[in-house]
Amino acid sequence: MSLDVLAIAAHPDDIEQTCGGTLMRMAARGYRTGALDLTAGDMGTRGTPEQRVEESEAAAKVMDLAWRGNLHFPDARLENTIAPRMTLAVKIRELQPRTVILPYWEARHPDHYRCSELGFEACFLAGLKKLDPYSEPHRPFKILYSSLYADVKPSFVVDISAEFERRMEALFCYASQYGSATEGDRLFPTQAEIRDRLGAIARFYGNLIGVKYGEPFVVKEAMAVEDIVAMPVRSI
Ligand SMILES: [Zn+2]
Repeated sequence: MSLDVLAIAAHPDDIEQTCGGTLMRMAARGYRTGALDLTAGDMGTRGTPEQRVEESEAAAKVMDLAWRGNLHFPDARLENTIAPRMTLAVKIRELQPRTVILPYWEARHPDHYRCSELGFEACFLAGLKKLDPYSEPHRPFKILYSSLYADVKPSFVVDISAEFERRMEALFCYASQYGSATEGDRLFPTQAEIRDRLGAIARFYGNLIGVKYGEPFVVKEAMAVEDIVAMPVRSI
């Protein structure tokens, strides 16, 4: 299997909230896109890991993913140790993504920044010839950090105006999390509230590049520009 883009996230439904629109947009351009969730949300108040994985499969269809997988690492106690790092590195060798999307490296939820660290280190390990005798070395060319939940200036924003509604549809595939269940009611906002919040966030980032809805990303490297006359986004 060889993917053009692979998004790696800690929990099923993280991708739908942070970079799902970008994945859909890339799928529409003919790229093979994939999502790898590290945990199945086994510490979640609502739903079971089996349900979460089933829901993530349904969301994968809505997002036109070519592949989706779950490593079933322990939720809420994700650790960056040799075993999960190796498992992830071997998975990256199998999937051979050119571009990898990771969560931004600072976050409130420990799983999110651990996932970022694990993903970054696994991308490096995956390129080592002697890592594992049963798989071919592969080091992703590009790593993007999805920064939607971090209060940092994005390096660039992807216009997801055409994908936003379908991204909400993908998120609401997680009926155990966003349905009308009563467990943990005080902890969970309603669907309308979630749509409102995510709409406001996507609107904010879209506004930065002069479109309706956007998803922000950070890259560590400088970005190359071919034609300074054709550069988009009006100066302020
Ligand atoms: Zn999460």
